[in-house]
Amino acid sequence: MSKKIAICVGHSRFGDTGAVNTDGVSEWAFNKPLAERTAELLRDAKHDVKVWSEYSGSGYSSAMSWIAEQIREYNADVAVELHFNSAGPTANGYEFLHWHRAGRSARLASCFHFSFKKFFPERKSRGLKAISSGDRGSAFLQRTHCPAAILEPYFGSNVEETAFYSARREELARAYADAIISWLSAEKPLNQSNPNHRNKSLTCFPKSARSPKRNKAS
Ligand SMILES: [Zn+2]
Repeated sequence: MSKKIAICVGHSRFGDTGAVNTDGVSEWAFNKPLAERTAELLRDAKHDVKVWSEYSGSGYSSAMSWIAEQIREYNADVAVELHFNSAGPTANGYEFLHWHRAGRSARLASCFHFSFKKFFPERKSRGLKAISSGDRGSAFLQRTHCPAAILEPYFGSNVEETAFYSARREELARAYADAIISWLSAEKPLNQSNPNHRNKSLTCFPKSARSPKRNKAS
């Protein structure tokens, strides 16, 4: 059955482009075409997808309230916001953020983790990050009415990671679409399970994805 998927480009508020990677590309500029390609792949899988790459609001908090309201009006079943990390030049790895009290969002984040392990087995996993009020990304994760995750595939401050993922945008889009489709399929009641996605609900819970640690990367 067709589901409604909200794909949000992080830092879509006027004047906020986010971090800039070592190629000089901002988070917003990197993620906008990636969001659109991910949407195409999900539409090919017969889902209804909306991409947001411009947010209203004069500051971070009002923009987060605005996008949460848009996602609610759209009646999305699931929402993600695309980013990349930035810290020191050697920081590396992918991580996925979810609201700490939301089990379905934690499972969504774990589906991204599982998909990245499959698509990018050579890259480092930093695990899932359970986000509480006041942590980075907390407003998006807390205010969305549906399961939600923030995607941090790599560190734009790392020359090698920037080059690796810049050359693999299509694989990134496929990893994102695969994760969302896996999660949606695992969300189905057991008596309607899709034989093409048998046991996906189990594979979306890799033990190694569970990490209690938080980090300060932005
Ligand atoms: Zn960001």
